[in-house]
Amino acid sequence: MERAGTGLGCDDVLESLTDYLEEALPAGRRRRVADHLGACPACSGCLGQIRATIAVLGCLRHGVVPAPVLNALWESFLTS
Ligand SMILES: [Zn+2]
Repeated sequence: MERAGTGLGCDDVLESLTDYLEEALPAGRRRRVADHLGACPACSGCLGQIRATIAVLGCLRHGVVPAPVLNALWESFLTS
């Protein structure tokens, strides 16, 4: 995947998306992730799908996204 000129690669951003959604990232990294999302349609699309999926599952209310759920999400997003 291509870098979007923010210093973070798509892989870095995707790894940080759940922490981003849970507002668990340090401010500096959160800003870099946000910058990348603003510049990268692929990652912002993933963010939207994850946000919608998590909302449906209600995972955020528990503060945890189960790893099997995340893995399934990544595979469905990254291979589509
Ligand atoms: Zn990206």
